[in-house]
Amino acid sequence: MHNVVIIGSGCAGLTAAIYAARANLKPLVLDGHEPGGQLSLTTHVENFPGFPDGILGPELIENMRKQAQKFGTEFKAGSVNEVDLTARPFKITAGKDVFEARALIVASGASARLLELKGERELIGRGVSTCATCDGYFFRGKPIAVVGGGDSAMEEANFLSRYATKVYLIHRRNEFRASKIMIDRARANPKIEFVTPYIVQEIKAPAGLVTAVRAEHAVTGESRQIELDGVFVAIGHIPNSTAFRGKLDMDHNGYLIARHGSLTSVPGVFVAGDVQDHRYRQAVTAAGSGCMAALDAEKFLEEHKH
Ligand code: NAP
Repeated sequence: MHNVVIIGSGCAGLTAAIYAARANLKPLVLDGHEPGGQLSLTTHVENFPGFPDGILGPELIENMRKQAQKFGTEFKAGSVNEVDLTARPFKITAGKDVFEARALIVASGASARLLELKGERELIGRGVSTCATCDGYFFRGKPIAVVGGGDSAMEEANFLSRYATKVYLIHRRNEFRASKIMIDRARANPKIEFVTPYIVQEIKAPAGLVTAVRAEHAVTGESRQIELDGVFVAIGHIPNSTAFRGKLDMDHNGYLIARHGSLTSVPGVFVAGDVQDHRYRQAVTAAGSGCMAALDAEKFLEEHKH
């Protein structure tokens, strides 16, 4: 029986672990299918406070892990496939293991949707990015593309035009999901060229760094090669909340709903990080919400001692 089980080992889960461990709760962290979360997929992180020269994403997450371990956090590999939240202690099933917890913190994150092209995943940090706020700065004075037709794509294209010499906005249809105001803003930006309806077929990186994309016209099949240094994939995120469907309140996109900080619809279950946040999605906000969840769990355990 564990006082606190934390699902997820990104910066929300690890920050929750640091706080819970320092409160002597001996938390158990279940790593999940992407140990370290999205930070482990980035290169330089220059906006996490406290690192004036920046820090590599995997190094930042490793530091948090060591810090959590130092205060007595236990870690277990494995992804959660089922939870029983109908009674306390909660039951969490990961593969063949079943864990019992007096309090549960869900920090299972969200995964950026990728185009699923050959080599795309390996090129993250080498020209492919899923986060304009994180990586835009590295493309100063270079041409780049943003792929997608939603608000994220428009917002990222506008944001990236501060740095890039040119932003190709590649979208598979002529219609957009983005709101009119966001589209108008992007259209009015002289650095942004709309490339529609084109489907990206290939990301070229002959020497391991992105040099071009090849896209095909969705109707005519005409092929077009665009020379560039970066491809920002902005086609949405998928919150990792499947195991909680029907058990915790979530919105229509599957994001868990947090109330009064980190509280969920089940007392004793708390939520932190990107699984409940489609708006900010920053390492520092995820860490902050992990801290909130741990403090809320600690208070809950104190109030439900008997
Ligand atoms: P989204 O609205 O779901 O849009 C995703 C876009 O990616 C769509 O244009 C979709 O094309 C395209 N797409 C999906 N899969 C693709 C694939 N495999 N290949 C190529 N294109 C693909 O996602 P989002 O833009 O991340 O926005 C998510 C939510 O956050 C929305 O509710 C949005 O309004 C909100 N948001 C708001 C703001 C803001 O207001 N400032 C900023 C960012 C996000 P199709 O249209 O052809 O399906």
